[in-house]
Amino acid sequence: MGIKKKIIILLTLLPLSLTARTVDLYEQYYAICAIKNTGVQVIALRKFRHNGNNLILTIHPVTLQTAIYSRDSLTMVPADMKKIRETFRGTPYCRLFSYAESRGKKLLNAGITHFSPQNRKTYLTVDLCPSRHPLDRKLFTEVIQQFTTAGRPVPMAVAVTGLWMEKHEDDIIWLRRMETDGKIAITWINHTYYHHSKKGTPLRKNFLLGDKLHIEEEILKTEKAMIERSIKPSIFFRFPGLTSDLTLFNKITGFGLIPIGTDSWLAKNQWPHNGSIILVHGNGNEPVGIRKFLGLMKKKKMDIESRNWALYDLREGARDLGREIR
Ligand SMILES: [Zn+2]
Repeated sequence: MGIKKKIIILLTLLPLSLTARTVDLYEQYYAICAIKNTGVQVIALRKFRHNGNNLILTIHPVTLQTAIYSRDSLTMVPADMKKIRETFRGTPYCRLFSYAESRGKKLLNAGITHFSPQNRKTYLTVDLCPSRHPLDRKLFTEVIQQFTTAGRPVPMAVAVTGLWMEKHEDDIIWLRRMETDGKIAITWINHTYYHHSKKGTPLRKNFLLGDKLHIEEEILKTEKAMIERSIKPSIFFRFPGLTSDLTLFNKITGFGLIPIGTDSWLAKNQWPHNGSIILVHGNGNEPVGIRKFLGLMKKKKMDIESRNWALYDLREGARDLGREIR
């Protein structure tokens, strides 16, 4: 490679790596907060520094929207998750914990696998586990084409890993552009940083169960990498290989996160019904799932046009479920 070419590559990489270094001291931090000018109550989950500013990642316990505030704009009373769950026990956020934890023992697919079947809603989740292949952009462009109605962005959730982000900066920029152009509205799910998996190893010793010592790093490093790329983490988490045990499950909820499974993994021929959380892989590793989703859209074209089949925001499904649970 000529020196000139090397310099050009360096220059193109430079702004990104500089941006990447601007988030630091990213830590767990739990507090009951009020936004100073409105008095609205939110819950602090993390604190960090960004470009020299002290910032707080918060969750609104009713809307389930996360937001980032400057520390100065909040009144905060530090509390642990136990205290927070007691204080906000009637809210959808805290009810979801109890609901998810009652489904936390399963080795495979623990947590929330579907929402209420009553309102004909389905929820698309796209996993981006580490991969050498490019993002399956066709999935997104087809979804936008088929589901866009009256200029509303199409809601979907993307479960992203740190390693995938590292290797796919162009794809991240492309996805972010689809968001800022108002074509899609993504709920970003934490799918761990490294997504360790060992072929041929029993589930009990595989994925996160094979490395319980680095859970904090797997969670916080991913969130930090998201924020460095202008991606706002949500309160949802997806286990690599959908694999966990109760101890691990409770550790994840201890971070204020709610594990999301699936009842419709398309590549495994689990077809969606009302309330389903659909799973496809958009990382190029499971083209059969993408083909099935594209085929499903074709088959249900009339239903999509008549609004009998639409995609919904994961936070909306979780909120509805949180309200229904008694
Ligand atoms: Zn995965």
